[in-house]
This record gives sequence, C-alpha cells and structure tokens, in this order.
Amino acid sequence: LVSRKKKSDDTVVDVNGTKVGDGNLQFVMGPCAVESYEQVKQVGLALKEQGITLMRGGAFKPRTSPYDFQGLGVEGLQILRKVGDELGLQIISEIVSPQDIETALEYVDVIQIGARNMQNFELLKAAGSVDKPILLKRGLAATIEEFINAAEYIMSRGNGNIILCERGIRTYERATRNTLDISAVPILKQETHLPVVVDVTHSTGRKDLLLPCAKAAIAIGADAVMAEVHPDPAVALSDSAQQMNIPEFHDFMAELKGAAVKL
Ligand code: PEP
Ligand code: MN
Repeated sequence: LVSRKKKSDDTVVDVNGTKVGDGNLQFVMGPCAVESYEQVKQVGLALKEQGITLMRGGAFKPRTSPYDFQGLGVEGLQILRKVGDELGLQIISEIVSPQDIETALEYVDVIQIGARNMQNFELLKAAGSVDKPILLKRGLAATIEEFINAAEYIMSRGNGNIILCERGIRTYERATRNTLDISAVPILKQETHLPVVVDVTHSTGRKDLLLPCAKAAIAIGADAVMAEVHPDPAVALSDSAQQMNIPEFHDFMAELKGAAVKL
C-alpha cells in the first residue's frame, strides 16, 4: 500500500492545516525531552517567530540507560498540548507502548514512533488503527526494505497518514553518532508515495553538522527537516550536546532560508 506502484501521486499529510509533502518545506523542531512548561513555552515562542508550526518534544523517552531521565510521561504530553493550544502549534511526540496510543490521541497531533520501536509490530498495528498522522522513524539498523515494511504495517491497518523519518543508521563510523543515510531520501520517495523528513540532530549527534546536513536534506528532496532546540542545552536532561539553543536555532533558520534561495 505504501508503494509508489500502488499510488503514483505524493501523499500529503495534513496536520490540522500544516501540510507535509505538498512541495513546501516544513520544519519539525523542539526539545529532545519535555522538562517543564517554561522550557516548552520558550521553544514554542521561538518556533512561532520563525513561522514554524510543527513542534516536537519527548514525553516518553526511550533511553539507553535505565538510570537516565525517562521523560515526564502523560504530564509531558499535557504540557505540550497546553503550549500547542496557546501558540497554535501542532504537537509531535513519541509513544512507546500500544496501550498509550489511545491516551496520546487526546494530546498530540502526530504520534511519533521512534527508531527503537520501528519493528515493535504491536505498536505499529495500534498506530495503524487510529485516525492520527504517524511520524515513523527508521530503526537504528534497519534496511530501507524493513523501514518500508514497518510503514506497511501501519497502512495495512487503515492509517495512511504516515511521514517517514531518516534519522541515521548505525555503522562502524564513530565521527558522528549515527550515519545519515542521505540517499535513503530519494529512494524512499521513489519507492513510496509518503513524505520524508530528515532528522539532523539524531543522525549526526553534532551541532556543527546540523546546518550542512539540513542543506543536503533539502537539496536531495526531503519534505521536512527535524532538529532539536532547547533554551539551555547545557542543563538539558537528554541530548545535551547536540541541541541548539535559541539564538543558534534562529541562526540555523536564517542560514537555511538564505541557502534555499540559491538552490
Ligand atoms: C527522538 O526523536 O526523540 C528520538 C528519541 O529519536 P530516535 O528514535 O530517532 O532515536
Ligand atoms: Mn534527542
């Protein structure tokens, strides 16, 4: 069902008026994890200033260590919703278990399925059974075929509103946190009719690479760019090294807007 052979025109995912995949570039920005109302509000205000309408933030954090901050859970979703309503932003947040999908419907505009859960088939089936757009991230070591099959799980249950996200894959290379598979973008766009977003934060894990990788993503045809923004990354409870602070975020957007004209 996700195959280009089944449907030749591009799927446009409409998130309450913000369209992903219609030819206009979108940005999905926000903190790694929701930490407080004030933190999310500050980021939300910065997004608004840039005309960005899609805000991300993790409430359920799938952390490598069980001793690391696990997220605020439903309280985090409530904070996101509150700020989203106050500022007119669409909310994207990760859900990690099938039983939280129903709860999420009340708070989020897009349900994110994270890299670690790309092959959590029960979660994929639950996401496929609801009427809410899904942002599906590529697994840490998933082939493009496996990634497409994960999207097929969702669509086969009836939910066709899927955004695919390339977020880097694990390779032998340690200079970056993951290896951004930039060629996945045109492959996914050839093989499926779904919109594709590139997450420059988790793929690189390096602030100095966010801008060049975002430019590459745009040049190669991505429908949206995702990156993390935090008012004070030094004290962030997760991904402290690679989140942009708010002035860095404004510089990043200014550079991209300048570059987009030249493309
Ligand atoms: C995230 O986007 O918050 C996240 C945890 O990313 P990933 O699932 O790609 O590691
Ligand atoms: Mn993160």
